[in-house]
Amino acid sequence: MTASCRRCLPLIFVFAAWSVSTGLGPVLRAENGVPPAPVKQPVKQEALRHTQANGWHIAESRNFRFHHHSQSNLVARLAVLCEDSRTAIRQRWLSAYGTANWSIKCDVFLYPTPTEYQQKTRFPADSWGFADLEIGEGKVWMRRLDLRSDNEARVFNVAVHELTHVILADRFAHKQIPRWADEGIALNSEPPARQKDMRGWLAAEIKQGRGFTLHQLLSMQQYPQNKHLGDLFYAQSGSLVEFLLSQNSDSEEGVLRFVEGAQQGLDKPLSGVTLTKLESEWKAWLMKSHAAGGVQLAADRP
Ligand SMILES: [Zn+2]
Repeated sequence: MTASCRRCLPLIFVFAAWSVSTGLGPVLRAENGVPPAPVKQPVKQEALRHTQANGWHIAESRNFRFHHHSQSNLVARLAVLCEDSRTAIRQRWLSAYGTANWSIKCDVFLYPTPTEYQQKTRFPADSWGFADLEIGEGKVWMRRLDLRSDNEARVFNVAVHELTHVILADRFAHKQIPRWADEGIALNSEPPARQKDMRGWLAAEIKQGRGFTLHQLLSMQQYPQNKHLGDLFYAQSGSLVEFLLSQNSDSEEGVLRFVEGAQQGLDKPLSGVTLTKLESEWKAWLMKSHAAGGVQLAADRP
């Protein structure tokens, strides 16, 4: 018995700009106003096997199968990003699972125009991308990403977010991970600048008395369809994961145990704390960390 689930539909939380942080090149700093000479580094490449089928060019790496229309250069860079991000996210969140290759590769479909994305996926162009998974009996039976590929910076950011959903499914292959945890952890994979923007916006909303109670957030089965509620859902989910990471000495594993505890029910204390107390501690942390200009994110910890 398998279950099919789609993530990030609709992906409605959009701030002014997504910052570009691909990790693919060195950051050069200017000193005394004179930019240093670029350091020549070998360009990292993934070995790709190229074929064609069903009107698609196909490029296969160790864990991914990219379906595209003559976007070979983009695919070469995306393959490096996906393989590197897969290793990094698995090591961070699923260290006990190791980094062995997937026996079932993740198919990645790239659509070069918003129109083609919308026509082929039947989803609005402004959703940019989504993950599609089939899980059951402790196994992931199908992994797939559908992404718009008309903006390289954006496809890289969206790919890392969606890939986080795909990776988390390995741990939650018996019972689907709750929406808040899935999105909160995926947001935590995104560039710190975007998380900071979201935190500032959320702190203002909470000050105005808006936002979900933790009981509502942790019980939510579907994405809110109203844009403002959707934004609150994403921002609160991301913020709660950040808060839990800051509270847990065993960090990522502690957060996943919290999520699994919440799956069992919300009536008993989670990690020894009632939901009411946790909500008040999280709000105090949010206001304090926003006033201080940020928090030390888990990814930045030594
Ligand atoms: Zn998502």
